[in-house]
Amino acid sequence: MAEKLKFAIYWAATCGGCDVAILDLAEKILDVIEIADIVFWPIAMDFKYKDLEAMDKGSIDFAFYNGSVRNSEHEHVAKVLREKAKVMVAFGACACSGGIPGLANISNREEIFKVAYKETPSTVNPEFTVPKPSLKIEDVTLTLPEFYDTVKPLNMVVDVDYYIPGCPPPVELIWQAVEAIKNGKLPPKGSVIGPRYTLCEVCKRKKDEKVKIKGIRRVYEGKPDPEKCFLDQGYICLGPATRAGCAGEEGGRCLNVNMPCRGCMGPADEIRDQGARMISALASIMYPEVPPEEFIKMVKDPLGLFYRFTLPSSILNRKVIKK
Ligand code: SF4
Ligand code: SF4
Repeated sequence: MAEKLKFAIYWAATCGGCDVAILDLAEKILDVIEIADIVFWPIAMDFKYKDLEAMDKGSIDFAFYNGSVRNSEHEHVAKVLREKAKVMVAFGACACSGGIPGLANISNREEIFKVAYKETPSTVNPEFTVPKPSLKIEDVTLTLPEFYDTVKPLNMVVDVDYYIPGCPPPVELIWQAVEAIKNGKLPPKGSVIGPRYTLCEVCKRKKDEKVKIKGIRRVYEGKPDPEKCFLDQGYICLGPATRAGCAGEEGGRCLNVNMPCRGCMGPADEIRDQGARMISALASIMYPEVPPEEFIKMVKDPLGLFYRFTLPSSILNRKVIKK
């Protein structure tokens, strides 16, 4: 029997959904175990960082890193994994583009600590004690990871070989990656595992290319017709700016249950900035009936809507905060 591959899986700033997505492989996980040994997966088994640090350089074949880089611990493990792994994979929206934790880039550490450790109604902290990287108590020094001002996607910290997008990555894409690894048929370095095109290109809903809309609605404000394009009905759907592949070759996971796409697969190839592309797509179906300054007033939370999964990797990256 050929020697098994060595896999590592790590979670950083994440909800844990990406780890669960691996379990969603169900019985196919047995096929993974047939080709690979998991040598590091702290959420599932009791591996210590010192075990990882003791491994030889390049001794891990594939490292799947999920979550964004929020603190010094995440950065440290990313760097150690990069050194030990032949192939580094950004797994899930947070690692690929910053994800939902990346929306914190509209604040900095000081502001976040103020809300979390002082202003929340359930907090009683009159001395405003906040986490510090180190604290000396008598002759003992206690340490904590340093909380950064800015959330980063993995490729802002280490070199990344492949990206598997999604929040969490769909089982079909995870399996596609496993098959490519198994058969030695990985695409060129830097590739996103998944289709290159947008969700609109495979969406089966009826579209009216000439439609102009005069307003936008949130899903609870109506009952979307399941046969028609969401945008044509005034519901914002991020399909024009989002990579397909979330439900296999056709459709989309959210569209299949009559919900507009929120953009978790990130931008399709050739789209530099998912939010900017979506704003441009919307403006084109609203103009000239609705001028841009009126359009933007209709959107309740532009950043959360257009950059929900990609703010740290977008052209905006973060809000500039003068200290
Ligand atoms: S905007 Fe949404 S509903 Fe309309 S075609 Fe694109 S993916 Fe389908
Ligand atoms: S439809 Fe959009 S938000 Fe829903 S899973 Fe697919 S890419 Fe993600």
